[in-house]
Amino acid sequence: MNVPVTGQPELGASSSIVILTGAGISAESGIDTFRDKGGIWSKIDYRDVATPEGFARNPRKVFDFYNKRRRRMADIKPNAAHRALARLEQELPGTFLLVTQNIDDLHEAAGSRHLVHMHGELNKTLCEACGQSSRWTGDMSIDSRCPTCSTVGRLRPDVVWFGEMPYHMGRVHAALSACDLFVSIGTSGSVYPAAGFVEEARFNGAHTVELNLEPSEGGGMFAEAHYGRATEVVPAFVDHLIEVAAQQW
Ligand code: NAD
Repeated sequence: MNVPVTGQPELGASSSIVILTGAGISAESGIDTFRDKGGIWSKIDYRDVATPEGFARNPRKVFDFYNKRRRRMADIKPNAAHRALARLEQELPGTFLLVTQNIDDLHEAAGSRHLVHMHGELNKTLCEACGQSSRWTGDMSIDSRCPTCSTVGRLRPDVVWFGEMPYHMGRVHAALSACDLFVSIGTSGSVYPAAGFVEEARFNGAHTVELNLEPSEGGGMFAEAHYGRATEVVPAFVDHLIEVAAQQW
């Protein structure tokens, strides 16, 4: 199903694009989504593993949850949708910002460079003693030592949990307020503030596009939409944008 296009982005040398991605872009790489049938939150209560209160109650359970995800991620590769976004960044002129809600590193692995992880990163740890974030690729436990201040027992996954403030919001809001094109990919549009980005971009005059398996909760707010698997709709849309840009230069 496609939503008729109302308006087209201007893609000149000074154009600005913001892309938002969610769990759906990594689904075909083998990473479970959150709210879909059979998704992560149907198997485990998010309050136990994705809230500060859950961590305070049972840190071992939280470490175990993220350790398993981190170990699995070592074998997972980016797919055609991640690669298409890296190509878009390389080939289009102007300003580009990729904002991902995902904590995997598949965008970096595909070659994306201008990106921010608003919900943190699985391969990072945050020390509650010194406040430093550090790369961490092995298992983490209540006995782990901070690589920066050497304190033992104060590390946590550097992941933004429910009730916490997402990262990089100043940079994201600045980009949204100046963008010509906003594209939301593989996200259910149920978690704020990301769910509100489409309204913010629209308010500032951007052309808005949704690429998802099915209409998201805020699907009606987009001026254009293409529904299908990310590995199909994202490369096709990127090809289209590169063509549009070539005609407008
Ligand atoms: P989601 O599971 O809510 O939605 C996934 C979306 O992807 C759905 O709309 C679905 O239709 C779509 N989809 C599924 N397969 C697809 C495919 N092959 N191609 C295209 N689309 C596909 O995930 P979300 O929107 O990313 O959830 C919001 C955020 O809440 C998560 O990203 C996550 O960061 C989050 N959150 C998680 C934690 C944590 O892991 N501890 C903590 C805080 C917040």
